Amino acid sequence: MLVDQKLPNSVTTALSHLEERGFDAYLVGGCVRDSLLGKQPDDWDITTNAWPEMVRSAFSNYPVIDTGIQHGTVTVLIGHLPVEITTYRIDGAYSDHRHPDLVQFTPSLRQDLARRDFTVNALAWSPSSGLIDYFGGKTDLEQGVLRCVGEPEKRFEEDALRILRAVRFASVLGFSIEAHTAAAIHAQKESLREIPPERIQKELVKLLCGRDVENIILNYYDVLSTFIPPIQKMAGFEQHNPHHIYSVLEHTARAVASCRPEPALRLAMLFHDMGKPERFSLDQRGIGHFYGHAGLSAQYAKQLLEKLRFDRATIELVTALVKWHDSVIPLEKKAVKRWLNRLGKEKLELLLQVMTADTLALAPEYHARATEIEQTGFMIRKILEEQECFSLKDLAINGQDLIGIGIPEGKQVGDILQLLLTGVIEEKLPNEREALLYHADWLKGHSK
Ligand code: ATP
Ligand code: MG
Repeated sequence: MLVDQKLPNSVTTALSHLEERGFDAYLVGGCVRDSLLGKQPDDWDITTNAWPEMVRSAFSNYPVIDTGIQHGTVTVLIGHLPVEITTYRIDGAYSDHRHPDLVQFTPSLRQDLARRDFTVNALAWSPSSGLIDYFGGKTDLEQGVLRCVGEPEKRFEEDALRILRAVRFASVLGFSIEAHTAAAIHAQKESLREIPPERIQKELVKLLCGRDVENIILNYYDVLSTFIPPIQKMAGFEQHNPHHIYSVLEHTARAVASCRPEPALRLAMLFHDMGKPERFSLDQRGIGHFYGHAGLSAQYAKQLLEKLRFDRATIELVTALVKWHDSVIPLEKKAVKRWLNRLGKEKLELLLQVMTADTLALAPEYHARATEIEQTGFMIRKILEEQECFSLKDLAINGQDLIGIGIPEGKQVGDILQLLLTGVIEEKLPNEREALLYHADWLKGHSK
């Protein structure tokens, strides 16, 4: 079995430590699934029939964190690796579609595995017993199928987050969702409204960075629109424009999949054309236009990312990328320096990636534009390598120099620096101290 190939020593120690004391101990859930798929697991979960107090005393020589003790979880630090050890449990009734009203310990591994969401997450493994597979998880894993353990309707009613987890796992693993499970997802998606935004946020980011995100957006946009409502209108919205052979939703799905799996980029692509349906107009020739859609999409991005409790930096970055996504950056130094000044190097480079992904989701005859954008990228690198001036800190003089030639401290200093910088970027002034001071002196008398 593949599971033990990359097993860290700490995990083997934890398992044998429990077994030596007469308890059952199995690896369970994501770590078994990922190991069988040949992927290195992010974290290691152990399930055991030992009660939390027994786990604590079995590991009394190790640092123990018992943050989840009311749910039966004890986290043990073995050689700095946190290993989560959870007592076999049955979840009680779920009155809020999210939290079991009570958690009950059980001596049965089968019952513990039965409470888990999907068959591929309900596998357990130990060095002494090998793979325990009560629900056909191994076959589903081999066939790339995501299927609920038990009745999908009931499982989603117990915990609505599972609806989004299903879609997220399908995207990340590239699995298809079994028909009964898929039907229940579509039928019960509205209950996602009861899930806290922070949980939705985490799942959304993983989903967007998944390898099968394009298909997932196309087939499960109704699920996404329960927390990002404007997505609904994008579906089937034809663009009536020669650049576009796809609907707004199809174009968006392709654009998301065309950029690196980095949260900010993928979020930007998801939102970039969200304002299009409301900004649509047809000209006399029957060609569709979407004047002002980038601004509206940026508003949607800001408002919805805030609602989903994204952090400030992400909201600001994604909103800027969406706002500027359809700008034209002429392939000339002055223009590129202007953009460097406006956005800074990091953000501008991300914007080029957004523009490239957008281009690759157009009709194929327009893909050549991606090469032009690449040229802009080369130009940025050249400007940086040659340490050309595009921001106030690159200017050969600073505020103190201006005060030194008698410009009073305050707003005028900033205004003059800005004028000089514009002159340098536009190549009307050299970035040299003497020349800049000369011009500053002249501006002193002519600007207020
Ligand atoms: P990843 O860590 O890659 O997100 P994972 O499967 O490890 O995937 P976790 O959220 O870490 O997911 O959960 C660990 C295990 O706990 C899952 O594999 C599954 O067996 C079980 N589980 C987690 N969340 C739920 C849930 N909402 N309903 C039922 N079982 C769950
Ligand atoms: Mg996990």
